[in-house]
Amino acid sequence: MINFDSDYAMTIDGKAVFTDKTHPVYNPATKAVIAGVPDCSQAQLDEAVASSRRAFGAWSKTPLAERQEKVAALGDLIEANAEAFMALLTREQGKPRAGAEWEVFGSAAWLKEIATQSLEDEVLEDSAERRVVTRYTPLGVVGAIVPWNFPLLLAVWKIAPALVAGCTVVLKPSPYTPLCDLKFVELAQQILPPGVVNCVTGDDELGKWMTAHPDINKIAFTGSTATGRHVARSAADTIKRVTLELGGNDPAIVLPDVDPEVVAEQLFWASFQNNAQFCNATKRVYIHEEIYDQVRDAMVRFIEANVKVGDGAEEDTTLGPIQNSMQYEKVQDYFEDCRKNGFKFAVGGEIDTNAPGWFVPVTLVDNPPEDSRIVTEEPFGPILPLLKWSDEADVVARANDTIYGLGASVWGKDLDAVQRIGAQLEAGTVWLNEIHEYSPHQAFGGHKQSGLGCENSLHGLMEYTNWQTTTLKKQ
Ligand code: NAD
Repeated sequence: MINFDSDYAMTIDGKAVFTDKTHPVYNPATKAVIAGVPDCSQAQLDEAVASSRRAFGAWSKTPLAERQEKVAALGDLIEANAEAFMALLTREQGKPRAGAEWEVFGSAAWLKEIATQSLEDEVLEDSAERRVVTRYTPLGVVGAIVPWNFPLLLAVWKIAPALVAGCTVVLKPSPYTPLCDLKFVELAQQILPPGVVNCVTGDDELGKWMTAHPDINKIAFTGSTATGRHVARSAADTIKRVTLELGGNDPAIVLPDVDPEVVAEQLFWASFQNNAQFCNATKRVYIHEEIYDQVRDAMVRFIEANVKVGDGAEEDTTLGPIQNSMQYEKVQDYFEDCRKNGFKFAVGGEIDTNAPGWFVPVTLVDNPPEDSRIVTEEPFGPILPLLKWSDEADVVARANDTIYGLGASVWGKDLDAVQRIGAQLEAGTVWLNEIHEYSPHQAFGGHKQSGLGCENSLHGLMEYTNWQTTTLKKQ
């Protein structure tokens, strides 16, 4: 039995590793310290990478079916410990029960589904004279670096395809949310040989050491675009492969024929799921001017009637706190900027800085200018600009006028118009009349500065491999 409430150790070469120096982890709903986790030294990172390198030899030669079976078994392990994972996730990340359930069972489901995937050899020629085959060989040791908004799921999105492809992994969680990841990797040792998955904890410096490490072959990174640039620069020195899942500023375009009451609830969840700490959260809503007032007012009514911001551990909480003090200050700054510029709040707008946790009220900003910070930047907190549009070409241009290209959505009854507009949006995922539908078999990634490469699907699996072409002259 594993104790989820204490003994947070790194896992290096199958063994629990503690350090004298630790760093604190907070419950964002109370600001109380709930754990101290190890501070990985450079020598310990070297040990972790060396153990993953050793493990790679045997793991990459383990039959695919056996690797798939073990990856699926990791899913079973999460399910068997789901209650403990959900409680811990709420404690360290802040998300309420429904969100924790989605993430924990989603992680299990992802492991099981990715375990069904494989990359077949491609026979390009098989004639009397020659046989030409392209096959996919595992890259080696993967450094997986994850953020604090979906700590378990985004780790699984990297570990599952890496292991199926035959790679081994050194995982680094965010210093803000390391606990579920530490426990997951500790549990995984029941199934995996030592070194196949290691987990190390530390601050951003540890991430830098990983991106520069000569014996890591690939960095699978999810985080901000600013950090993604550092990762790409650092990885360049050793020509590491990188997958970068970065920030977003997803637009939603609302046509004049929607039912305001129905779309209001859909837009609420599109924008505020996970307390808007979500790369794919809708971050700008363009509502046709004919229906703007009705949709705005319906959203306000929905929020006032249904949304309780509070401790995720309380049953009636809809949205939890901001996950950490750094992000809380960033979000406060957007409130301040809106206030300073005299923008109107349709709902919310006042942060109670005396609250016990890092709580922020759900806030709608009523038609701010297109070039304001709240429209052009990624607040990563529950403050959302509503904007008016009247001309289709103009709204498409505004939606695309950003360095980001992660996701986008279009909402309307006229399906021709919905699809026509959707086809013009520059984003990795475009949802039409629905939102945040993901699948392990659906490629996920960003256009423009929202990322490089993708996760999930066979395209994502391929990113953990080198392609190798063999040509054989038979006579
Ligand atoms: P972040 O970039 O600050 O940190 C992400 C991870 O990188 C952490 O583990 C951190 O310790 C590490 N890190 C920091 N500096 C590093 C460096 N120089 N080298 C290597 N690693 C380093 O991001 P965050 O604040 O944890 O997460 C929020 C951001 O992540 C948002 O911009 C959000 O949109 C983005 N995000 C993207 C996706 C996606 O799939 N595209 C998903 C979730 C979050």
